Amino acid sequence: AAARKAYTDANPLSRARYEAACAVMPGGNTRTVLFFEPFPLCIARGEGCRLWDADGHEYLDFLGEFTAGLFGHSHPAIARAVKDALDNGILLSGHNMVEARFAAAVCARFPSLEAVRFTNSGTEANVLALATAKVATGRSKVLVFDGAYHGSVLSFARGVLPINVPHAWVVGTYNDVAGTEALFDAHGDELAAVLVEPMLGSGGCVPAERAFLEMLRARTQRCGALLVLDEVMTSRLAPGGLQSELGIRPDLTTLGKYIGGGMSFGAFGGRRELMDRYDPRRTDALPHAGTFNNNVLTMNAGLAALELLTPETVRELSARGDALRTRLNRLCTEASVPMLFTGLGSLLTVHFTARPVRCGADAASGNAELKELFFFDMLTRGIYLARRGMMTLSLPNGNAECDALLVAVASFLEERRSLL
Ligand code: PLP
Repeated sequence: AAARKAYTDANPLSRARYEAACAVMPGGNTRTVLFFEPFPLCIARGEGCRLWDADGHEYLDFLGEFTAGLFGHSHPAIARAVKDALDNGILLSGHNMVEARFAAAVCARFPSLEAVRFTNSGTEANVLALATAKVATGRSKVLVFDGAYHGSVLSFARGVLPINVPHAWVVGTYNDVAGTEALFDAHGDELAAVLVEPMLGSGGCVPAERAFLEMLRARTQRCGALLVLDEVMTSRLAPGGLQSELGIRPDLTTLGKYIGGGMSFGAFGGRRELMDRYDPRRTDALPHAGTFNNNVLTMNAGLAALELLTPETVRELSARGDALRTRLNRLCTEASVPMLFTGLGSLLTVHFTARPVRCGADAASGNAELKELFFFDMLTRGIYLARRGMMTLSLPNGNAECDALLVAVASFLEERRSLL
């Protein structure tokens, strides 16, 4: 309560903007994930890995737009690509000069993508991948996992099924090999697809165990369902996506976030024979229009983004994130508190629990009050992160910024020790 009050007192202009927004948007909000009590911050400006809110506080940005902001705010190369689109037409009512180049760059980067189609968001990419699977298999059930997030209409957090999406869901427990095998035994013949993140992202940065993903690959092959890997968040973790690191080749992959250079972006792709169902020359072609699918802003920004992101850059960022998480966890162990940071590479989430975090329920079982305290505490120390405790490293978050985060967490552990 004291932390909330201090936050309220420190942010009168964010509060005023929130109250005004409530008059015209439900809860003052058009992105549910950004809401928190007593009111969310209003961010006025960003540059590199720094943010300034409406009340003038400066933050080190450790949220990185939930992974879409990999390049930092207003990266000059991406700004140039966007400006070029602004100068020459951002939506040209036709095919354009850059979409096939961008598609080639995406397919070259992720070897399981023999062909790709663009969407406007990761949500849309997943909706289309599932539609593809249903048509390809003639089946209707989809196996997903508790705690998974596949987009705004495809959230499986804490037993909640998505609203108004016409699939028959079978919901398994993440990383539970035996339990999931039982679901294949019961439903395998009716499954169109298994949709899975190779690490639960929003669900708490919970990496999949290799045996779990290998079982999903083998069992989908055996029962004739498609394996759809949602790499909207995880594709940044290795040069060919997390799938390449794990040696798992899915039938379809969905992408999003940073690949569009910070513009609205999503993509789905995979086996040629599946993707060819969208070939408009076919008499039985599946429809997939979308006014903004090939908009030049995103195509240009995405191409510039992928050019910046060499395999070395990807590996370096992952190594920096792994080193940071190791050091953060060492602080927690030394302080002997039930607190840990899970994740892979540049993606991490703090949990206030003593139990290992292997599935959505483990991630949801932590102490919610301590997580809230951590969040407000970090804000007062100038560290911006997600209210649910997720953090990401973007390219501009270098060693100095990681050290600043470590100092902030060390101070939190020392000053709040009696509460932990
Ligand atoms: N899939 C995963 C794993 C995600 O983390 C997200 C967004 O957080 C999505 C899909 C949805 O992407 P978008 O927000 O672009 O619709």
